[in-house]
Amino acid sequence: MKWIYDLSLNELKNEIKALGLRDFMVVQVFQWIYQKNCRDIKLWSNISKYNRELFIKKYNITLNRLINKEEDREGTKKFLIELEDKNKIESVLIKEKNYYTFCISSQVGCAIKCAFCATGKMGFIRNLSSGEILSQILILKKEIDDYKGKINIVFMGMGEPLLNYENLKKALSIITSEKGAKIPSNNITVSTAGVLKYIKQIEMDFPNIKISFSLNASDNKAREQLMPISKMENLSDILDHFKNHKRKHRITFEYVLIKNINDSIEDAKKVSQLLRGILCKINLIPYNENTNIDFKTPSKKNIEAFKEYLCLNGYTVVLRWSKGKDIKSACGQLATQTKDI
Ligand code: SF4
Repeated sequence: MKWIYDLSLNELKNEIKALGLRDFMVVQVFQWIYQKNCRDIKLWSNISKYNRELFIKKYNITLNRLINKEEDREGTKKFLIELEDKNKIESVLIKEKNYYTFCISSQVGCAIKCAFCATGKMGFIRNLSSGEILSQILILKKEIDDYKGKINIVFMGMGEPLLNYENLKKALSIITSEKGAKIPSNNITVSTAGVLKYIKQIEMDFPNIKISFSLNASDNKAREQLMPISKMENLSDILDHFKNHKRKHRITFEYVLIKNINDSIEDAKKVSQLLRGILCKINLIPYNENTNIDFKTPSKKNIEAFKEYLCLNGYTVVLRWSKGKDIKSACGQLATQTKDI
């Protein structure tokens, strides 16, 4: 039996034709699943009982299993989800003032191994299928069932989304489609440690999706220590691309501030020079301490001084104290199993 969430609209259309069903039924099924988030087929009132029963014999419409949910004092919720093969992933629902943000995982573990990240310590286990990406979104949507307002989706959970590009692309096509989940591309951010080939690809495939780049250091050498991907993907190539490629949205640079590693005024000066000429915004994220990693959060004084230096030099800077720290759902804290710590 095929899992419906792994099928694109066209793939399902082709299959349904082979079953002798009319292809408009695919749009109806997509609307029940992705827009109404309804898996009780008795309620699929615009599809005949006969067709519904035929359909359900061929396709599995069950979501991945939610096995745990934790909530912090501010309403941030972390979801532990079990996949078919018993691997586990985490997704985070963040309640903002006027909207919700879904933080979605793209891989089980991560191959990038950033020194400050709990997911990186798990190592890479496998890519998520497009259905496993979509399933997270539907599980989180279920949680805010009656809510009809704005939802932002950020691919900042476990994994490097651009290293799972084909499945990410398939999921994004359904998320943004008028026939699928109908979430505007402008509300979606893909965060990357920097895989230039796929940065270029996603800019071509989804020009309205926002890109967020994890900078975290003031030059390539220092970045190599924190993010080994910098040994293969040189910072200057990526920044040159950001400087020269015209896009609709500003690039967001994420900078995790770590005590005595990258939080000095000297670093702020270098970051300011590095990003000169790029239409951007900088998110400063004070490091979220993790028992298994020996980095510390900088002092408030250093954080403010770093921010002030960049602001005075004309940058838009947002200081983001991560939500969900007490349930280990803040930036860099997601991990469902540890391999080598
Ligand atoms: S920060 Fe992102 S890219 Fe780096 S190890 Fe963690 S999940 Fe992977």
